[in-house]
Amino acid sequence: MHVNPFETAKAQLEAAAKLAQLDVDKVEQLKNPDRYVEVSIPVILDNGEQEIFTGFRSQHNNARGPYKGGIRFHQDVNLDEVRALSFWMSFKNAVVGVPFGGGKGGIIVNPKELSPTELERFSRGYIKNMYPVFGPEFDVPAPDVNTNGQIMGWMLDEYQKITGNKSKATFTGKSLEDGGSQGRTEATGFGGVYVFEEIVNKKIVNLSEGASIAIQGFGNVATYFAEAAKKLGFKIVALSDSKGGIYNPEGIDVALAEAHKKSTGALKDLSGAKNISNHELLELPVDVLVPAALENVLTAQNAEHIKAKLIIEMANGPTTPEADMVFEKKGIVVIPDILANSGGVCTSYFEWYQNMNNVVWSKEEVLEKLSAQIKQAFADVWDRQKKYSTTFRNGAYILAAERIIGAMRA
Ligand code: NAD
Repeated sequence: MHVNPFETAKAQLEAAAKLAQLDVDKVEQLKNPDRYVEVSIPVILDNGEQEIFTGFRSQHNNARGPYKGGIRFHQDVNLDEVRALSFWMSFKNAVVGVPFGGGKGGIIVNPKELSPTELERFSRGYIKNMYPVFGPEFDVPAPDVNTNGQIMGWMLDEYQKITGNKSKATFTGKSLEDGGSQGRTEATGFGGVYVFEEIVNKKIVNLSEGASIAIQGFGNVATYFAEAAKKLGFKIVALSDSKGGIYNPEGIDVALAEAHKKSTGALKDLSGAKNISNHELLELPVDVLVPAALENVLTAQNAEHIKAKLIIEMANGPTTPEADMVFEKKGIVVIPDILANSGGVCTSYFEWYQNMNNVVWSKEEVLEKLSAQIKQAFADVWDRQKKYSTTFRNGAYILAAERIIGAMRA
């Protein structure tokens, strides 16, 4: 069954709005992005032929500051997905307390089919047609699925050439040489683990040392989450990529899995681990489940079979509202994406701030600030969760909506 992520986003807001009796008119306003733009991107391929790609940017709300959010390259990108992701960015930025609104971009492409030179022309091509909606004080993109510091660098260079605006603050998630921030690469995964630590320390979910974790995905977010969780003494028993997953109830050596993926191109067939499907990974008998790949993976179809006590949403929008209801009934604690993965955008804000003010912070400084900001966000969400005797998702939405609506009124 196809689940429209934009409908999911609106249903999540609706639930929180009802509970906290939020301003009905403002809630209606928040259900739609301020603006979305579609561009066509002609790219000359290495064989001399031209191919035309479609790209989007959705600018959801800027009451609290410039629109802010990543750019995704994926074959399944569509306008509703981009609109949903921009919506979640407004709420995430409000939860973590950075002065940004929400935006998101995407291009329909399988980037693995492009050569490095094609990928550069393609990334620059998006900016050629999209540059008028970007700017350091208007809309600030960052990496997302299949995009990285190099791609941000190409995009920034193209933007600077076209507009003459030399500010590096138009894009975040850049490489260090290009004005990126220390700690940005690790930030989303580490941020998730800072939240995880709070859950454990506050005994919101009882987990003993060595508790088992299954992580769906093995990209930027999953890798650093795994590394930090392991340091805290937890056991990573399953990981996956788009080609499938691996499982070892005794624990997986994450560094070994990384090396194996680097040399073979996939996680599967790692010695000592059993190959499993992405579907099977979600239903493993583990203590903690961490979806860290794509949206809509926890649905009405599999929610009853989920065995974890705690779900930490590192991907954006991995749980449908139907699945959420099942988890609530079963007493499974779900830490919502807009809190769990907010470390990325929080550090993007630090990068933007450093660029705007011509300062450079050390990695220790960045991670210290990140930890403090995430822990404060956690405390603020927990406060709403207790006040309304509700889920962490509703708590996070109520907090964010209070902040956004407050700014809209002001
Ligand atoms: P990435 O491109 O580095 O990694 C994505 C991972 O997902 C890869 O391991 C890939 O193999 C896997 N994957 C792709 N299709 C899959 C499928 N069908 N089934 C299972 N796995 C699949 O991306 P990332 O930056 O790690 O982002 C992962 C998630 O986290 C996304 O939902 C993204 O929106 C979200 N997120 C990322 C950041 C960030 O700072 N990178 C911040 C907030 C949220």
